[in-house]
Amino acid sequence: MRPFTYERATSITAAAAAAARTPRAKFIAGGTNLLDLMKLQIETPVHLIDINGLGLDGIERTPDGGLAIGALVRNTDLAADATVRRDYPLLSRSLLAGASGQLRNKATTAGNLLQRTRCPYFYDTNLPCNKRSPGSGCAAMQGFSRSLAVIGGSDACIATHPSDMAVAMRVLDATISTINPDGQTRTIPIADFHRLPGNRPDIENALHAGELITDVTLPPPVGGVQTYHKVRDRASFAFGLVSVAAIVQPDGCGRVGVGGIAPKPWRVDAADSAMPLGAEAVASRLLDGAKPTTDNAFKLTLVERTLDVVITEARRRA
Ligand SMILES: Cc1cc2nc3c(=O)[nH]c(=O)nc-3n(C[C@H](O)[C@H](O)[C@H](O)COP(=O)(O)OP(=O)(O)OC[C@H]3O[C@@H](n4cnc5c(N)ncnc54)[C@H](O)[C@@H]3O)c2cc1C
Ligand code: SF4
Repeated sequence: MRPFTYERATSITAAAAAAARTPRAKFIAGGTNLLDLMKLQIETPVHLIDINGLGLDGIERTPDGGLAIGALVRNTDLAADATVRRDYPLLSRSLLAGASGQLRNKATTAGNLLQRTRCPYFYDTNLPCNKRSPGSGCAAMQGFSRSLAVIGGSDACIATHPSDMAVAMRVLDATISTINPDGQTRTIPIADFHRLPGNRPDIENALHAGELITDVTLPPPVGGVQTYHKVRDRASFAFGLVSVAAIVQPDGCGRVGVGGIAPKPWRVDAADSAMPLGAEAVASRLLDGAKPTTDNAFKLTLVERTLDVVITEARRRA
């Protein structure tokens, strides 16, 4: 691990100011992703700003009936929150499908959205990776790509976004609130938050340098049967090969998002419109333009089968 300095921020403005003072600083929340990456020297911040004392750990109703979730709310607390379980069960289910109890006790809402890919070549610093080292190439293209993206990738990178929670947040139309080092705030719809790789896979989201996520807001609840189904190699403590988050209303209409197949949580308007038509129609719209590799072509069938399970279960429960 490279040497770095450390400070505990005591207010949001102090954290933003610290980021402004030190260009290569990083915020640390639960540390469950950042510390692993620092040990491998994939992330090399010169300064860590600990944001755990900022008081951003509340879950509150918004005036319009939505829900504001503090950036530092732990995944365990968010999954267990009574309002989340009642009004946004999709979110609770997606969180419980991720990682392990110990990790969820530390992992935070913002950190989860910002966690980096699990592409095996990203972690092997002996091999080229455009995401880790821009312009070096992509070892995955000629390598073992079973877990990687079938859609949304580019010639530079086919990594997937690994978060379960982000897929649910995408289907729930979450909004991310931030403050930059100058104290200016803004909100970013989750649809615009995660970026596709294009020719800059190292730029993964819409945040600017030193910008701090303060909270994530959900619109008022939309009801319906809400399901999260994750398919993985082991029954627990494993990232998803494919996951489906869906909300199905009694008339068969709804929304659907898929994880494990793209560099960002994957949602397509035309697929939402096809919900009453069933899994085959939804899958064909979601996967329009897919470019699988030989290793991961199985994901196309897996998406359709997982959608079938989810839609069938939702109709039974409706
Ligand atoms: C073994 C293992 C298995 C896992 N399995 C799963 C799984 O199945 N599904 C899943 O979804 N996840 C899984 N995870 C990932 C885990 O959910 C993430 O590591 C965790 O959510 C990251 O949150 P954190 O608070 O620890 O982030 P940190 O590690 O503290 O930070 C991550 C990044 O976010 C930045 N950051 C944090 N907070 C803010 C903020 N408020 N504003 C701006 N930047 C910020 C940091 O600077 C850093 O770049 C697993 C992790 C491990 C280690
Ligand atoms: S797929 Fe992306 S993360 Fe994986 S090796 Fe290629 S550039 Fe790196």
